[in-house]
Amino acid sequence: MLLDAFRLDGKTAIVTGAGKGIGASIAKSFAEMGANVFCVARSLEDITQVAEACRHFGVKAEAIVCDVTKEDQLKALVEQVAAQSERLDILINNAGAPGKGWGSIEKVDMGRFEHTIRINLTSAYTLTHLCLGMLRAADAPTIVNISSALSWMVDKNFSAYAAAKAGMNQMTKVMAYELSPKIRINAIAPGAIETPSTAFITQNETLLKNTTRWIPLKRLGQPDDIALGALYLASPASSFVSGKILEIDGGMQALPGSAIQDVIDNE
Ligand code: NAP
Repeated sequence: MLLDAFRLDGKTAIVTGAGKGIGASIAKSFAEMGANVFCVARSLEDITQVAEACRHFGVKAEAIVCDVTKEDQLKALVEQVAAQSERLDILINNAGAPGKGWGSIEKVDMGRFEHTIRINLTSAYTLTHLCLGMLRAADAPTIVNISSALSWMVDKNFSAYAAAKAGMNQMTKVMAYELSPKIRINAIAPGAIETPSTAFITQNETLLKNTTRWIPLKRLGQPDDIALGALYLASPASSFVSGKILEIDGGMQALPGSAIQDVIDNE
């Protein structure tokens, strides 16, 4: 059956940032499609709950605490996964955030800028580097990087985050070429998605209205909107797709004005 191409039965996946939001949704949807999942984040309570929800689908799921900005913790993560699984079929580099680099150019110094690059870009590079051996041992390994619409769209206060995510897009393309034909790598560039990290938008009526105004489909995305894209890119359904950036953003083309900062300035 054609839809079987979306199944992940017997595959093993690592999902970073799996405790909340988009990562939690990806972990649970992959489990629903038959994958064993390693759920990674810093808060044990969150990933324990997500792993538990994954196991309800009859797959194996483990919670592994790891701060992706720390190389020693990334190494320990990969060692723990290797101890439990011979191969790795899917790597989802999802952990990321505007972090300390969010703010005006005046405010964001080198340390804050580098923190944002580290959490969004360096972590994805390093985990990919560390996972290559296990990925190569799989039949049809895939990597999905979670980028952002801010990788191409312009908005104030996001210099560091936008640079990191634009870097992630180009890194995805170069890695896809270098690692082909064995490993497929793609990215998703989400628009505004309703998660704990965007609660400051959904809880502010003016901000929500201003943000939605620039989204042709007139709503914020849901984590499952991204999980479904990740499922396509991680599964055999996309076996002829590599080095691409999938935009899932309600149809946004550009941001004519600063949706967030303009509201903050006027409040
Ligand atoms: P979220 O709701 O804040 O969840 C982020 C998850 O990542 C949490 O489980 C968090 O858990 C984990 N995490 C954060 N820092 C980490 C670290 N240093 N090491 C390991 N895990 C860490 O975020 P989200 O909105 O779902 O965003 C997920 C991804 O989508 C990010 O890469 C983000 O840039 C991207 N994105 C989001 C949107 C949006 O509108 N939401 C739009 C475009 C792109 P702990 O804090 O416990 O570690």
